[in-house]
Amino acid sequence: MDRRSFLRASTVGAGAAASTLAAPVYAQGKRTLTMVTSWPRGFAVLDDAASYLEKFVSEMSDGNLTIDKKAPGELVGALEVFDAVSSGQADMYHSADYYFIGQHPGYAYFTAVPFGGTAQEVSNWYYHGGGEELHDELGQIFNLKGLLAGNSGSQSGGWFSKEIKSADDFNGLKFRMPGLGGKVLGKLGASVQNIPGGELYQALSSGALDGLEWVGPMADERAGFQEVAKIYYTAGFHEPGSALASSVNLDVWNDLTPQHQHILRYASMAVTQYQLAETLANNGAALARLQSQGVKTLQFSDDVWDAFGAASKEVMDENMGDELFAKIRTSFEESLANSASWINKSDGYYVQQRVRVLGGE
Ligand code: CA
Repeated sequence: MDRRSFLRASTVGAGAAASTLAAPVYAQGKRTLTMVTSWPRGFAVLDDAASYLEKFVSEMSDGNLTIDKKAPGELVGALEVFDAVSSGQADMYHSADYYFIGQHPGYAYFTAVPFGGTAQEVSNWYYHGGGEELHDELGQIFNLKGLLAGNSGSQSGGWFSKEIKSADDFNGLKFRMPGLGGKVLGKLGASVQNIPGGELYQALSSGALDGLEWVGPMADERAGFQEVAKIYYTAGFHEPGSALASSVNLDVWNDLTPQHQHILRYASMAVTQYQLAETLANNGAALARLQSQGVKTLQFSDDVWDAFGAASKEVMDENMGDELFAKIRTSFEESLANSASWINKSDGYYVQQRVRVLGGE
């Protein structure tokens, strides 16, 4: 199936109207790229990453390559950024690629998959296990050059109006979770919705949602969910290390000088490390503040984790009819197995021993 032709045909109105925006040229050696994002301005972690990319690219290019960042609604909606960049309405996006599993399920791997990799393991795969090349292979279908810029680290299980005592408690629960993780909760009977971040507080406070997952303590505190829910599960199965994407329209990418291509790629890498470190440095203190505001923190029981595992395998297997999905999954799981065989014996074991010897949580 030629998705690119289909996509272009389906967005011909928007694409044609915006064609004057989509053909930027270097003016006196300078170029500005319009970057549409899925994040309201000031959203912790996510808009932070997009803002760092804007800053790093400008600084690295001495102001010759700049990014004009657009929040949802300024050019297109939060979840319309992929189609906008694919069609040339905007030059690049900053988002989470698993919002676009409707375009292709393989996009889940470029954010996070259930029982997937930690932030470090995702980078191991992306830069040294074939992930970046597969992002480009997938991007070719949609006229995109794939780039990752940012990682939220291990995401929280989420906010709930009641405790989850068994997997049956997900039955009928109105819950927000995007990506393949959401399909897993659907297997457990949840009514799963993908609502943009900027609309979540209202949905939870109005009762349109019984619960939601967003990111982690730092981002969740800034979003204010502690004001409308008091039960917070800390570890989640669905996003153990969620990457953010900064992909570029392929025609725009090919039109950039090699130096500016390098700057975008290296700035994106730097954002991943810098923003991830900021997030991990702040999550612990943010969690303590949430607890001091009456939030009860819990972990899912082993039985619930087992149910997540069984449903996750079903969801992943259901997509294996797609050749490219199967290729991406195989590549990712091979890399993960290599990572895990060492990380479990080094970082994982070390942290257990550090807690045992020195104490602490
Ligand atoms: Ca999330």
